[in-house]
Amino acid sequence: MTIEPIICYLKPLSDEEINAINKYWTLKDECNEEFKYTMKEIDSQHGTECKKVSSLIKKTTCMAQTPSFICSDCKQAIPARNRSEFVRRLSSSSFQCQGCEKKQLDSLREESIKILLNFLDSQLNKLDYYSKLSYIDKLVLSAILSNGYQERKPIITHDTRMYVSGSENVDNSTLSRLAGLGALVKIHELPEEIQLAEMRVYGRSSGQFYRKTRNGYRPQKNPLAIEKGIYFSLPAGFNNSSEFFAKIYDDITNGGITTEEIAELKQLVVDIRAENFYRLIEHISQEFKLEISNSVPLSALLIHLSENYALTKCCYTFYFFVEKVIVYIYKNNPDSYSRPHLFTKFVSNYIQEVQDNGWELKLTRQLPETIFTSNLEALVSRSFIDGHFNWHSLTANEVIEHWLSKVSIRDCPNSPLLA
Ligand SMILES: [Zn+2]
Repeated sequence: MTIEPIICYLKPLSDEEINAINKYWTLKDECNEEFKYTMKEIDSQHGTECKKVSSLIKKTTCMAQTPSFICSDCKQAIPARNRSEFVRRLSSSSFQCQGCEKKQLDSLREESIKILLNFLDSQLNKLDYYSKLSYIDKLVLSAILSNGYQERKPIITHDTRMYVSGSENVDNSTLSRLAGLGALVKIHELPEEIQLAEMRVYGRSSGQFYRKTRNGYRPQKNPLAIEKGIYFSLPAGFNNSSEFFAKIYDDITNGGITTEEIAELKQLVVDIRAENFYRLIEHISQEFKLEISNSVPLSALLIHLSENYALTKCCYTFYFFVEKVIVYIYKNNPDSYSRPHLFTKFVSNYIQEVQDNGWELKLTRQLPETIFTSNLEALVSRSFIDGHFNWHSLTANEVIEHWLSKVSIRDCPNSPLLA
């Protein structure tokens, strides 16, 4: 194939300059893609009044009569701006201009955005689960949705942990029940098609990008990128999460509770409360460097305390007895087997004495920072326990009593009381 370079002159040029430019685009022979003169040779052949060829290049482009100089989409002829581009274009079989390339990328991007939106829509497919939700399910969902919930964003991302109720046991069992109903959806792996769509929309760093802030570059989540995690999925019949939240919140405050659900509710409060007690014991054990055995007697003691005594009052008692135990160990040097059981023994003996004599625990102590109020506890305090009460200053039984005084008890067809 013979190649005849068609030189374009973009600006007014002197004869000398045209001559230099012509030499720049001259090929070794018409079948060869190599150029005849080096830039150094061209410069040396022209006088100092002629500009250097490296700056003259800006005033010229060059075409060849091959398909790779015509855009395959818009059919416009697009010349090469320098030798390396000329050679590159000659060696390729087709060519797309920048405008058409951008148009194609834009339409791929739009298509990818649709794929991403559709993917989440299909995952968060509205199932008809509303009527299957129990009182506790609605309570847990209310706690989730009242905590800065964002539509189409996970309630728990894969690398974080959410404390809904404050008890891991309660969270795990309720969250898996809600997942079974279709109210929660796990997205832990993204299909290849979705990863490709994210690449097309956001380039290489599909999940996040860096934005300059006052404190340097901070990772930002791309708004359309699909984060892995657990999502809330709206049930059929609702338009948005706030409409759904209003309905379930009304249900838990005004909709009544069945006798079966009361049993579940009691268990929930006791579980949450018991976990707070465990956290307090762990904190004290670390603070005083005293091993406290996680024994059956301790577990029985904590469940008994959580039902009948306020956490803030037990906190005072625990701190009082941990010091007594330490003094006892110092004075009596008991064997290493009995040491981890001393704390439980001291507290149990005292509580027994309190009960035998009809005393009560009066003094309170502020809870350490590790005991925090979960979303669910905050929701319950706000909705069912009068403002001046603190969830932690009540016993589990008092919490349940306050709660049940605010909701009506419904008959349930499966209730054992009606059988
Ligand atoms: Zn084009």
